Amino acid sequence: MRPGPTPGRTPSSRAAASSRVAGPSEAVAASDWEAAVAAVRGAGLDDEVQLICHVNPDGDALGSMLGFALGLRRLGFTRLRATFPGEFDVPEPYRALPGIDLLVPEQQAYASPALTLIFDVAAESRLGGLASLLDGGSRVVVLDHHASNTGFGDVALVDPGAAATSVVADELLSRLGVPLDAEIAECLYVALTTDTGSFKFVRSPSVHTLAARLIATGISPAAIARRTFDTRPFGAMKLAGEVLGRALLDPAAAGGRGLVWTYATTADLERHGQRPYVLDSLIDPVRGVAEADVAVLVKELVPGEWAVSLRSKGGVDVSAVATALGGGGHRLAAGFTAYGTPDDVIAEIRPLLDAHLT
Ligand code: AMP
Ligand code: MN
Ligand code: MN
Repeated sequence: MRPGPTPGRTPSSRAAASSRVAGPSEAVAASDWEAAVAAVRGAGLDDEVQLICHVNPDGDALGSMLGFALGLRRLGFTRLRATFPGEFDVPEPYRALPGIDLLVPEQQAYASPALTLIFDVAAESRLGGLASLLDGGSRVVVLDHHASNTGFGDVALVDPGAAATSVVADELLSRLGVPLDAEIAECLYVALTTDTGSFKFVRSPSVHTLAARLIATGISPAAIARRTFDTRPFGAMKLAGEVLGRALLDPAAAGGRGLVWTYATTADLERHGQRPYVLDSLIDPVRGVAEADVAVLVKELVPGEWAVSLRSKGGVDVSAVATALGGGGHRLAAGFTAYGTPDDVIAEIRPLLDAHLT
């Protein structure tokens, strides 16, 4: 069975989509949009469809994936599973996202789905053990916005100019004729606000045009912001105090542009009874240090293995730095996985900062 006719979007929302200033329709080839639509339309409504986002998922990974999954549900697809690799530890702020009932641990992923959709994943390495499922004959469509995207998958909808993967997801939903509703909008809005730092890093008016369309469905930006950004356990605040308190400033690094960095260990998390996701937002106060262009947060995932967050105010291309160390990301926000001690990690990063001044 194939998806039947679905209500299209209104002509006015179509017009708004086509008048986007730097929307995905310009960065992604028309033939790729068509191929992605054909891949979805080509799957039967009772076929297994799998949606996957990156390890240690953030708001964009989960929000764009679940928002799109809800859109597929509206189209009539009956067998949908959304998942991500690694420990099944959904950050608290995202546990109430609409569509969360579709999320399963990677152990319950379909082994050979007809269609696989991948969200916010720049490289197969970010898929952990789920990467092996891509070899099984499933049609693979990738929705992403990382400049460092490797182009994997059968169809790659990669728009480095998009503020979030949810911008790409919204465009594909629109092309599939899925009308926005409040549940889909909430997912896409969470994705958009997390990846734009609550609209602080917006470079195109099209982001606010999308936000306006999402809010028009009746969602509450204030309630979403409080839940997503402004709610944390007491222990997380105490942990933040310690981690920020040990930050070091290295004014000579990055050709004199300056580096500020700190780290958090699994022992820190244990001492305060916290889960790793509470560290994700800690890069923001570090990034705010006026004396440094580059901010680094080194987070211990398991003893001796670190997730490294890099941020720049524009003086260094941190995506190039992260890519050189096996990771990826964007010019001003990137990351990679490292081993050793925090000092080892910084020693690896320091010369690369000098090599990638802008
Ligand atoms: P984060 O510091 O985790 O918020 O990530 C910042 C940006 O870098 C995001 O766009 C991530 O997708 C990307 N990123 C983080 N870690 C990695 C990695 N190990 N490999 C590739 N991209 C990464
Ligand atoms: Mn992400
Ligand atoms: Mn993203």
